[in-house]
Amino acid sequence: YGDASQKIDYVFKVVLIGDSAVGKSQILARFARNEFSLDSKATIGVEFQTRTLVIEHKSVKAQIWDTAGQERYRAVTSAYYRGAVGAMLVYDITKRQTFDHIPRWLEELRSHADKNIVIILIGNKTDLENQRAVPTEDAKEFAQKEGLFFLETSALESTNVENAFLTVLTEIFNILN
Ligand code: GDP
Ligand code: MG
Repeated sequence: YGDASQKIDYVFKVVLIGDSAVGKSQILARFARNEFSLDSKATIGVEFQTRTLVIEHKSVKAQIWDTAGQERYRAVTSAYYRGAVGAMLVYDITKRQTFDHIPRWLEELRSHADKNIVIILIGNKTDLENQRAVPTEDAKEFAQKEGLFFLETSALESTNVENAFLTVLTEIFNILN
């Protein structure tokens, strides 16, 4: 998990967006610090976190931005999107409404961010399979139609979180190389 003495070849800014309480902050905590908290207030106020990893022998510093609760007031500003080369669009598989809002987030993203931004759609909380309200196929179909990567994750169980970040970061890396 990161080494301060390392030479950095790339810095990639990636933004997390999606409705409140879908698990954005916990996905980030899992990726950046391998932590998880059931108390969502634990991470409020944090602007971004970084983790340095190696992709094809180059060190890539991922700078992951979290909305710090601003999404509740729809006050995610253009500064948030500025310079972002990747985006993770998150919904909660147990809350249909959070998936139904995805087209709005996508529209906001496309109007504020660079047009070449790499986007992954993420259905979080797969550990709550018995409460699932969004079929995997629906999301897969939507992602395909919109040209997005797609994965289902559990920040709680640490399922696919690493994979989701690697998918975005590797694609950004490949576009640049
Ligand atoms: P945010 O508002 O999108 O940043 O959501 P948070 O990361 O604060 O998470 C909201 C709530 O969902 C918190 O109580 C988290 O502990 C919980 N949560 C986040 N990810 C998961 C997950 O993968 N599974 C379960 N069961 N709960 C989760
Ligand atoms: Mg949050």
